[in-house]
Amino acid sequence: MRTSGYDPGPSPHEDRGHPRWRRRVRRPELSRSELRHLRQAAFRRTLRIVLTLLALTGCAVEPPRPDMDRVPPGAAVPEAPPPIISKFGEWGGHGGVPRMWQHTGIDIRASVGTPVLAAADGAVVRIGRQALAGKFVIVSHGPGLATVYYHLSEIGVTLGQTVQRGDPIGRSGMTGNATAPHLHFGVCLRETGACGESIQDGWANPVRYWNPGNPCFVAHTDYPPEPVRLTYPVPCSA
Ligand SMILES: [Zn+2]
Repeated sequence: MRTSGYDPGPSPHEDRGHPRWRRRVRRPELSRSELRHLRQAAFRRTLRIVLTLLALTGCAVEPPRPDMDRVPPGAAVPEAPPPIISKFGEWGGHGGVPRMWQHTGIDIRASVGTPVLAAADGAVVRIGRQALAGKFVIVSHGPGLATVYYHLSEIGVTLGQTVQRGDPIGRSGMTGNATAPHLHFGVCLRETGACGESIQDGWANPVRYWNPGNPCFVAHTDYPPEPVRLTYPVPCSA
């Protein structure tokens, strides 16, 4: 039947007496499961070809691994950490409030009462209340590293107490010089946690110390002791 203008006519190699569509190929009877198996094998072959082509053209594609496709129940799924509302070194706070000094840490959004977690194993070297910092805790993690937690509503540790990474050390709030609820988190490059008001006086950018891959604290994880890497000082799950 001529349905369009294109009709190449019979091929010179075609046997006119037995057109291709009349040829019967006798196939052995296949069971349903054998057919399914064949179809799956063909699909996998096609998938391999497509993935090879994608890899050759520069796309980073990994073949699917059936055991990795589904996250088993209870497994740790990386979560997005709460936002940083004022960065290290900024001259303005959240909402553009001017600062007297460059910001010596980062401000993490956290509603009042959010548990504040130790960012690594250590010992509590300072606690107290101050006009600017409000209620605060400082944890030492060994030579050249301490972390500070400001504007707390509650202090949950005592001086000298040993803490493990992820242990609650208090609750966030907005005590001291804070215009919105948040946790001010700082990294002091002195074991004693005695850094000054100026950013040059011993402070470092905390984001450079996050645990690579996932900065969120995940319980029952083996964090390498050296070099000390920090995890988020508030839970990542809301
Ligand atoms: Zn701050």
